[in-house]
Amino acid sequence: MTFICVPIMVESSGESGARAALEQAAEAVRAGARLIEWRLDQVADDRELIRQLLSKSPAPCIVTCRPTSEGGEYNGDEVDRIAMLEHIALEHMPPYLDVELGAYERSANLAHKVRLVVDHPNQLRPTGTRLILSTHDFRGRPKDLYARIGRMASEDACAVIKVAWTARSLRDNIEAFELLAHRAKPMIALCLGRFGLMSRVLAPKFGALLTFARADDMPGTAPGQPGITYLKETFRFEQINRDTKVYGVIGWPAEHSIGPVVHNAAYAHLGHNGVYLPLPIPPEYEHFKATIGSFIDYAPLDFAGASITTPHKAHVIRFVRERHGTVDETAAVCGAANTLIVTRSSDSVELKACNTDVDALVDSVCAGLGIERAGLADVTVAIIGAGGAARAAAVGLALTGASSITLHNRTVARARQVSHELNRRLGMCDTAATRIEAADLNGLCNRHHDVIIQATPVGMADPDGRAATGSPVPEAILSRMQWDARTFVLDLIYTQAQTPLLAAARRAGCRTCNGLDMFARQALAQLTLWTGASPAELDVASILAAL
Ligand code: NAP
Repeated sequence: MTFICVPIMVESSGESGARAALEQAAEAVRAGARLIEWRLDQVADDRELIRQLLSKSPAPCIVTCRPTSEGGEYNGDEVDRIAMLEHIALEHMPPYLDVELGAYERSANLAHKVRLVVDHPNQLRPTGTRLILSTHDFRGRPKDLYARIGRMASEDACAVIKVAWTARSLRDNIEAFELLAHRAKPMIALCLGRFGLMSRVLAPKFGALLTFARADDMPGTAPGQPGITYLKETFRFEQINRDTKVYGVIGWPAEHSIGPVVHNAAYAHLGHNGVYLPLPIPPEYEHFKATIGSFIDYAPLDFAGASITTPHKAHVIRFVRERHGTVDETAAVCGAANTLIVTRSSDSVELKACNTDVDALVDSVCAGLGIERAGLADVTVAIIGAGGAARAAAVGLALTGASSITLHNRTVARARQVSHELNRRLGMCDTAATRIEAADLNGLCNRHHDVIIQATPVGMADPDGRAATGSPVPEAILSRMQWDARTFVLDLIYTQAQTPLLAAARRAGCRTCNGLDMFARQALAQLTLWTGASPAELDVASILAAL
């Protein structure tokens, strides 16, 4: 079993400091912590406070007093620090004592003192304290990582090996998993920072002793620590085991996505043994290729698929083709896929790239208009934008025979180039398709459109929830729009109910919808592709209910 350990950085001395820290620990235990790490860096000289913390600790604990040289807050004398740890182990016998490998190796005297109070094969005195030897690198992966681990493994007083380093990319997590898989003794292997969440969430899959999570309302004690409720409830940490399949949303950034909330809730609903993570990969194809390649090639990860978002929707097609996989027709026509499926058998791995945005968009438009797909033959469509979402909208509506489709883009040359490319590919399809036209934003107000699709990121609230002010359509054009109650305006932004464009459309009497319905439909299609779920098991309403 892999425990969730919540570190509590004790910040003030005396009775009130002890009370506040014990309250935080009690709250962490209520939230699901099975271990508490008492970080005594700032209160190392307050023996009475330490006595209170250790005698009243609401869960088994690790005692740590981390010096500044190892990323902690203790800046006192090293001899005093070890004397304090020695005293704690003798007086209180905490289950774990954390000492840095660097400090342990620097002084034979110090190592001797630690050995006197922790458990090991030659220990004569009764002690229940096990030694965690730890090593941290906040700048990157230490060059001598394996040598350090080897020395910790061969030290008989070391009961637990702890390594933590700042991940330079998601690939570093694979190395952490490999270290855990080949551990010589109980181990904690964690990647710090933006790229390290995988190593924290998947710790149970690879048999780590514990993972660290911060108390929900406190800053973490190391970069990248997730909040305990996020870890437990979004990622269903306690359900993760060796056989758990791994999925995620790949983008740059990826952390803002609601995908983890939606997909993990759906896995719980379906009883599917999977976990879905944000997977940030920098924009260049080389990063994408190297990272996804390492996930696929490391079979114990059980990487089974991913949602793909900006800027990797074209990269995934190139990658799947390079690996001799298949690309479905709509993804090939769009030149963009939003779904990767990885199917593994004992001797091979099959890759498939699909585009579930296309059908989701068409169904969302039909639902908004209250018509079946056949009814689209009478519908004129204006799409604002010429990026990935606009391409999916244009292709979906062209293949379902909408009466007319025009891409209106700020950069009209780009709209022309995209429509040219899409028309050429649509011409090669078996299904007859509507021709896609290109125009500037001014063209939006030249005629009435039955459907207006907003497919740019403009109007999105910023991550801290402040309402958006921008609109991709300048006010001078908006004021001349020929829209009314017959018009349906779909804004693909799904992070908020209202955007400036939707607000203007509502004032003009139009029917409106944000992008959440489409998001739920494309996610549902991905879930079906990955898990085989049937409509009887999962539908759009139950996906939206997770939000
Ligand atoms: P993208 O590829 O980056 O598209 C950018 C487009 O937006 C370009 O055509 C660009 O015009 C235009 N644009 C950017 N800034 C502009 C501005 N200030 N004024 C006017 N036009 C501007 O993005 P995407 O991947 O297509 O995504 C677009 C939106 O759709 C995002 O909000 C995304 O979250 C949403 N989306 C939703 C779903 C869903 O399921 N609901 C699915 C996919 C995408 P230029 O060519 O002139 O630069």
